[in-house]
Amino acid sequence: MDKNKSSGLRKRILIITIIPILLLGFLIACFSYFQFNKTMEHEVQRNLKNVAMATVRAYDHIYPGDYGVAENEDGSYRVTKGGVDLTDKVEYIDELHNDSGIDITLFYLDIRILTTIRNERGNRISGTVVNKMVVDDIFGSGEGHFYNNMHVNGTNYYAYYAPLINSDGSVVGMMFAGKPTAVVKQDVMRSAIPIIGIAIAMMIIVSFIGTSFSKELAQAIGKEKNFLGAIAGGNLRAQLDASIIARKDEIGEMGRFTVHVQKFIRDMIERDPLTKLYTRRIGELKIQYAQQSALENNSPYCVAMCDIDFFKKFNDTYGHDCGDQVLRETAAIFNRVLFREGFAVRWGGEEFIIIYEEMNMDQAYKALSKLREEVINHVLEYGEERLNITMTFGLVEGDSRNINDIVKVADELLYYGKTHGRNQIVRGDEVDIEAEEKSE
Ligand code: GH3
Ligand code: MG
Ligand code: MG
Repeated sequence: MDKNKSSGLRKRILIITIIPILLLGFLIACFSYFQFNKTMEHEVQRNLKNVAMATVRAYDHIYPGDYGVAENEDGSYRVTKGGVDLTDKVEYIDELHNDSGIDITLFYLDIRILTTIRNERGNRISGTVVNKMVVDDIFGSGEGHFYNNMHVNGTNYYAYYAPLINSDGSVVGMMFAGKPTAVVKQDVMRSAIPIIGIAIAMMIIVSFIGTSFSKELAQAIGKEKNFLGAIAGGNLRAQLDASIIARKDEIGEMGRFTVHVQKFIRDMIERDPLTKLYTRRIGELKIQYAQQSALENNSPYCVAMCDIDFFKKFNDTYGHDCGDQVLRETAAIFNRVLFREGFAVRWGGEEFIIIYEEMNMDQAYKALSKLREEVINHVLEYGEERLNITMTFGLVEGDSRNINDIVKVADELLYYGKTHGRNQIVRGDEVDIEAEEKSE
């Protein structure tokens, strides 16, 4: 379920990063295609017009004079220019066609006289112009016209028709210059493809960056969420991935805040507010843990029960605040002296327990003696008063017994110390509690 949630987030980030990129890429591709199309159409239009006009001028140059019609001997007619028979005078337009791919047709009135367009059999086509609108346009206005979908001989053309005008100003024919639409479209595609290709490549690169970024982001948020989930589930010792803590962005900051909150909650639950030492519950767990690892590793461990001597006197003589200060300063000595050597908890009131892991009786006794010395040497300043503290300790070596029994023995040893002069460490291997109890 958790996994689905984080992949949901990833999907959402992906959608908001990738979809706009894809849309933008698509728009760029479409825009470039249409823009090219438009530009090419303009270019073709200009080109065809130039070619048509140039052809008109070329024929005027080669065959100066007006277009006209003369009768053949067989009664048929021939079209002439400046008196020269135009029949088969296709050299110029053929060459032009070969060089530029542009088809040329010279119409007298609406009749094809010369053309570069051939039918499937390879013969030049003949006949009249099919589209009467062209005839009306050119002959009506006496000006050239561009058409972008002219159907000629089964092919669609971009076409320009220029009027052929005699010296008396009359329109007597048309010069057609055309390029097949398919060829122009192919040219457009050829020019647009690199741009579209670049747009697609950019889209892929940006999408890839977006995907990796969203994946990394979703993973980081997922780790953070798991950490929060663990805390919510009561695991106050859960650890946040180091990569999150090291981040310099808001996610890293959130992670560091969460770790602080975790520590705050943990301290609130596990630590005694007055002395800042761990509470009895943590002490019990710690003894359990020490016992378990001692049994597994076949190593010793010790438990010491500690109690401040005549503590009540501090309260009664100087007030409760003074008693609190005694507790705080005693705990501070514990923290300073024990540092990694033993684990101290406030068991209750002015009683503490110290757990010494991987230490036998002699080692723990040595460590505890050092602590006792420090407590004795400490001078507590309360207002004008200079006060000394002493403590009594019951030290027992742990074994596989129930931990309550072990604590009970330590407590009995402590009690023995209280009744035998206080300010001392009572070792479990030196005082036989059961025998002492019987003798009392
Ligand atoms: P002994 O040498 O036999 O241990 O004598 P004691 O006076 O230290 O022992 P006792 O058990 O008679 O007194 C413990 C007192 O500690 C009783 C209680 O009011 C006081 N006490 C318990 N918790 C606190 C605390 O948090 N602050 C203060 N100021 N006093 C506390
Ligand atoms: Mg006491
Ligand atoms: Mg006590």
